[in-house]
Amino acid sequence: MSDYKYKRVLLKLSGEALMGSNDFGIDPTVPEKIAGYIEPAYKANVQIAIVVGGGNIFRGLSGAAAGMDRAQGDNMGMLATVINSLALQDTFERNGMQSRVMSAIEMHQVSETYIRRRAIRHLEKKRITIFAAGTGNPYFTTDTAAALRACEIGAEVLMKATKVDGIYDADPVTHPDAKKYDTITYTDVLMRGLQVMDGTATALCQDNHMPIMVFNLNGRDSFERALRGESVGTTVVDE
Ligand code: UDP
Repeated sequence: MSDYKYKRVLLKLSGEALMGSNDFGIDPTVPEKIAGYIEPAYKANVQIAIVVGGGNIFRGLSGAAAGMDRAQGDNMGMLATVINSLALQDTFERNGMQSRVMSAIEMHQVSETYIRRRAIRHLEKKRITIFAAGTGNPYFTTDTAAALRACEIGAEVLMKATKVDGIYDADPVTHPDAKKYDTITYTDVLMRGLQVMDGTATALCQDNHMPIMVFNLNGRDSFERALRGESVGTTVVDE
């Protein structure tokens, strides 16, 4: 444990990451891989909270674009995150890692209800604690839920797993000479409209001095290296 820089972190996973090579839903090999990436830190008693998105199943905005009531679509999106959270919990526990799902929308037959102090207790007991159903409110995203929960539980860093390995000054796919930042300020992210997290999530982190680390979870030890404080990805910080 001593060589880990962080003792309590919140990991944000997108729903789409769970699709793997599928077009929809969950590729069961992906949660298995995620469990493998997390296991060494879990065993070393790092306190790990997770927020997972729902974009692999449903997004309220897509529903609204097709004529659906936005709030109704968002409620569906939040329920999608519960499905993903239960899938992760199942995988963690099959791999011998204690885990709890806490939902922002009450559904006590399938998960606990989110209570901040109880969440902290789970983390202290080293249970991987998965926050489901976003913020419990329509018109928000799971990035904002991740920012909110990270602040509430006193996480030292919000670790946002993305397809790319950090924040670049241009799209690295179309601009091979794009430069990756080691650190960048919240203000730069917001002013330049960089697609790190949505504006609400970034502003919430800025107001509460919550560092956002953008990194690529794929790769056997990138989560571990990030936890050890190595320069993996890009960290969004104060001025
Ligand atoms: N959502 C919501 N309130 C929240 C979090 C999520 O209404 O606090 C809904 C919203 O419709 C969103 C969907 O849940 O599109 C899935 O979350 P998100 O799009 O953030 O998932 P990701 O892009 O990370 O897969």
